[in-house]
Amino acid sequence: MNCYPWHQPQMDRLLKGNFQSLLLVSGPGQGVDRFAQALTEHLMCQTQNACGQCQSCQWIEQGGHPDVFAVRPEGAAHAHKIDAMREIAESAHTTTHQGGRRVVQLFEAERMNRAGANGLLKVLEEPPASTRFVLTSTLPGSLPATILSRCRQVRLPSAPEDLQWLDDLAPASPQRDQALLMTQAPDTLLHLLQNPDELAKQVRWRTALIDALAGRGDLTGLVNAAKPLALLQCLDVWYQVVVEQAKTHAQDAAVLKRFVLFQQRLQRERQPVLEQVALNGPAMVRALGGLWLRVAPPATTH
Ligand SMILES: [Zn+2]
Repeated sequence: MNCYPWHQPQMDRLLKGNFQSLLLVSGPGQGVDRFAQALTEHLMCQTQNACGQCQSCQWIEQGGHPDVFAVRPEGAAHAHKIDAMREIAESAHTTTHQGGRRVVQLFEAERMNRAGANGLLKVLEEPPASTRFVLTSTLPGSLPATILSRCRQVRLPSAPEDLQWLDDLAPASPQRDQALLMTQAPDTLLHLLQNPDELAKQVRWRTALIDALAGRGDLTGLVNAAKPLALLQCLDVWYQVVVEQAKTHAQDAAVLKRFVLFQQRLQRERQPVLEQVALNGPAMVRALGGLWLRVAPPATTH
C-alpha cells in the first residue's frame, strides 16, 4: 500500500532520517492509517523498500506478518484496553521471527484510556531496541500529555483541493461524481467507490433529503431512506446536503439562518453517535426530519 501522493514528502523525510522508536502520525485530513501501513511495509521489508518480493512483504500482503502487531480500539467503549498494552509489553521483549524489526501499530491512539496509556508508558520505560511504535490519530490533542511528550510527531496535510490526485486513484466516472457529492475525504471516497451498494444507498438518502426539502417528500420517506444506512453515515450525508443548500440560499438571511442552526444541531447530534452511545436511530432521524421540513425556504414548500 502506498500513502497518498500528497503525503509522500513526509514519508521520504521519515525514511531518510533517523527513525525514532515512537512515532505519532496525525492529520486533519484522512490517510493517517494508510500512511502508518505504508511506513510499516517499508520498515519491515528486508530491502527497506516495500519491494513486494521478500518474505516480509509477502507476509504483509497476506495480511499477517508475525512481527507486526496492529492494535485497534475494541468493545462497546471503542477503547484501547489495558490487556492490549500488556500483550504489547510482553511481545516487545521476545525475539522476532526474522531476527529483525518489530512494528507495533496503535490505531486511533486517542481512544487510549488512562490505564492503557500507563501500560504503554511502562513499555516505553525500557523500549526494546528493535521495536518501532507507530501511533495514529486524527485528534492528537486528545492524547495524554505523557504520551505526546515522548512521540515524534508527523502531521499530515489535508488532501489538495484541486482533486488531481483523484485521477490516479479512481478515474472519472458517473459513480465518482456521485461519491464526490457525498464526501471529499479520500479514505471514505475510495471506500464508496469500492462498495457500489453502499454508494447507491447514500445516493437514495441524499435524494430523499433534497426532495423533502423541496416539498416532494415527507417524514416517512426520510425515515425509510435512512434505514439501510448507519446513523453516522446518515448524519454525514445530511451535513453535506445542508452545506450545499445553505450556499444556494446565501442571499436570503432568514432561510440561511435556519440552515446554519440545523447544521449546528447536526453537529451536536453527531457527538453521542461518535462516542458509541446506544441511540434510537429512526427516532433521531424522525425528530431531525421534522425540523428539516421546517428549514425549507417558503418558495418551495406547499
Ligand atoms: Zn520487501
